[in-house]
Amino acid sequence: MTVRRGRNFLQSPGPTNIPDRVLNAMHQPAWEYSGPDFVAFARQCLHDIRPIFRTEAEVFIYAANGHGAWEAALANTLSPGDRVLVPETGLFSFAWSAMAEALGIVIDYLESDWRHGIDPNQVEERLRADSAGSYKAVLMIHTDTATGITSDIQAVRRAIDAAGHDALLMVDVIASLACTDFRMDDWGVDVAVGGSQKDLMCPPGLGFTAASEKARRVGETSTMPRNYWDWSGRTVSQPEGYRWFCGTAPEHLIFALREAMDMLDEEGLEAAFARHRRLADCTRAAVEAWSAVGTMELNALVPAERSESITTIRVAEGIDPIALQTVLRDRFNVSLGFGLGQLQGKSFRIGHMGDVNEPMILGTLASVEAGFRILGIPHGEGGMAAAVASLAAAHKNA
Ligand SMILES: *Cc1c(COP(=O)(O)O)cnc(C)c1O
Repeated sequence: MTVRRGRNFLQSPGPTNIPDRVLNAMHQPAWEYSGPDFVAFARQCLHDIRPIFRTEAEVFIYAANGHGAWEAALANTLSPGDRVLVPETGLFSFAWSAMAEALGIVIDYLESDWRHGIDPNQVEERLRADSAGSYKAVLMIHTDTATGITSDIQAVRRAIDAAGHDALLMVDVIASLACTDFRMDDWGVDVAVGGSQKDLMCPPGLGFTAASEKARRVGETSTMPRNYWDWSGRTVSQPEGYRWFCGTAPEHLIFALREAMDMLDEEGLEAAFARHRRLADCTRAAVEAWSAVGTMELNALVPAERSESITTIRVAEGIDPIALQTVLRDRFNVSLGFGLGQLQGKSFRIGHMGDVNEPMILGTLASVEAGFRILGIPHGEGGMAAAVASLAAAHKNA
């Protein structure tokens, strides 16, 4: 067995590093689940999570991972036979729509090359052509963790409005919430889907759906069979607190969430966004330097679309990203993300989301560079110097 010392550098795009404060918050006995203490505690959490989505709308918390929250979003709004438009962003747009298909929903894709964000003009064009209003929703991924690309939600909203279309805008913010600016109400998002184990610094196991009034209204006529996911049964206006979770609450995960929300509150969302931007810029500076000899490059071609939470690096033929991942795990106790979908075997990913600071990123990048050397992977020089310079400049200007 390989002995690994020190903290694991969990630089994967979920789950992410869990802060000690969050871990410690869970170290307590269970509470009486329908007693007044837990009910008051849960009510406050259901309320306090709203500003993270920048919404006044109700947020539903499920004992589920992101996939569960995906299903909840679909099951509460759509009906079997409904059509939805899915702008392809990477593997996660396919995974969410595959789930929709399994529920009897008909999918139309807008294709992409996995190197660009969603083209709002294409969305507008497709919706304009749908004068019968057959599309019930547009499903989009804010940050697709496979490609490392963040799409412009506001631009998609404007496209839907410009087309005069009534489709719901449903957005997966699992990999962007609390890391990248997201404004559910200002941007007219109808359903936002989140998860606990990415930028929210919690263990896996909680899924969130925030639902606009329009989404709730549309959902009232949906014929999708549902029970566990049903929003109306879970609303906080229900007096019995155990209904908010459709049974026993995942109490310890809620304790974790409470602590993580307090930490985010202390830092401030804007400061958290700025920290993620610094760490992402630093990572990209290193990758740009490594890319000088043509053996690798950033997947995202448009700088403004490069994600602040995850960087996907394409490697040239003949370079084995799995070998790199294995060396980093075994020798340095550093965990990277591997390539997904059409980027499998052709990319690796460096997560910089959640509870991450400068030395963690510098340590990760230096370990990656050492990994290149161990494996004889040709790369441009000066990656670490570029990373350090990027961080220093960001702090000097802060
Ligand atoms: C991680 C992730 C998911 C899936 O979340 P699970 O908790 O693994 O079900 C969905 N969408 C995006 C963008 C993700 O990054």
